[in-house]
Amino acid sequence: MTVQPIRLFGDPVLRTPAEPVVDFDAELRKLIADLTDTMREQGGAGLAAPQLGVGLRVFTFDVDDVVGHLVNPVLEFPDSEEQDGPEGCLSIPGLYFDTKRRLNVVAKGFNEYGDPMQIVGTGLMARCVQHETDHLDGVLFLDRLDPKGRKEAMKAIRQAEWYDPGAPPVVKVSPHAAASPFGLGG
Ligand SMILES: [Zn+2]
Repeated sequence: MTVQPIRLFGDPVLRTPAEPVVDFDAELRKLIADLTDTMREQGGAGLAAPQLGVGLRVFTFDVDDVVGHLVNPVLEFPDSEEQDGPEGCLSIPGLYFDTKRRLNVVAKGFNEYGDPMQIVGTGLMARCVQHETDHLDGVLFLDRLDPKGRKEAMKAIRQAEWYDPGAPPVVKVSPHAAASPFGLGG
């Protein structure tokens, strides 16, 4: 198991748009394995790379016993039907709010080897794909709530046991930082 800590609401990485994957290499497959293990350990329906502090456009899903992943997703909506129901997020643990989403989605992208693939999703799968793709754009499901719902959600977050407004953001330092011309990070 390679379960990784999940970044929580307030961590700036969750608000940073992720970069497209260019190299379909062993490092990407390790990331997808980490995402899958962490998602399953936490019992989530999906997990996006930024939630592990990695700014790449990839997410995993586990919906109705279908486990998979999608790299560089692009969403298309075949109709204008909507759904409304409870939605949560592993980065906002324990809190669920009714969130409007499109009912049907076609998500096109690639698998971990760079082969084209697509997910035709409805209901919970469609909700998951939209939620995870939002993460790749730095968008949280709170942003999809109406102003009243968002106010209630923010109040609940501030009261949540895990929320620490004074916590400094966790910065991932590369073990090769000293050798990098860009200094920290890399
Ligand atoms: Zn989420």
